[in-house]
Amino acid sequence: MLDADFFRRWMTATAASVDREAERLTALDSPIGDADHGSNLQRGFTAVAAALEKEAPQTPGAILTLAGRQLISTVGGASGPLYGTLLRRTGKALGDPGEVSEDQFAQALRAGVDAVMTLGGAAPGDKTMIDALVPAVDALGDGFAAARAAAEEGALATTPLQARKGRASYLGERSIGHQDPGATSSALLIAGLAEAAG
Ligand code: ADP
Ligand code: MG
Ligand code: MG
Repeated sequence: MLDADFFRRWMTATAASVDREAERLTALDSPIGDADHGSNLQRGFTAVAAALEKEAPQTPGAILTLAGRQLISTVGGASGPLYGTLLRRTGKALGDPGEVSEDQFAQALRAGVDAVMTLGGAAPGDKTMIDALVPAVDALGDGFAAARAAAEEGALATTPLQARKGRASYLGERSIGHQDPGATSSALLIAGLAEAAG
């Protein structure tokens, strides 16, 4: 079972890795974006960590909904509403229980990823965060380490793709040959699950 502490650890592990990797995320967003992805997420996850300390939500669902709200309100740019929706929708799908099974979490995360696809209109292969998130959710039945490997592979596989959504799509064919920053940060988010699981 996954308790509230697990979800707190997930968010703090992600905040720490986003902090560590902020420069790299921004560097990836430089050739095919506006060079702000690392700073956007750093601002967002710093706010998430602060809000979790201050408001101390006590259930998995409440933790993720609060985190999602923080991302929506503090991250400028496309990724804020998208990551915010991911966590908020996942949290809503978990509901109120004090702990949830790994299966329940996998189903909830799938609902979250579906909500991101509905909001942003991206499908797998469009060179976005979806290219890391969908394989991760598909692999989650095999455990957090498998989900992490699938997300990292999905992020790497965005390099040869042409972007069809977001700012990078304005570049057309010139978006080919660069790894997508959002898919890369999604791999960090999924890696945070494996870290939280210890
Ligand atoms: P912005 O492009 O507004 O500066 P960020 O740099 O923070 O926002 O985030 C860019 C990332 O957001 C992209 O690398 C991509 O993965 C993701 N993204 C952009 N648009 C979409 C979309 N419509 N659906 C899914 N992900 C998207
Ligand atoms: Mg950007
Ligand atoms: Mg921007």
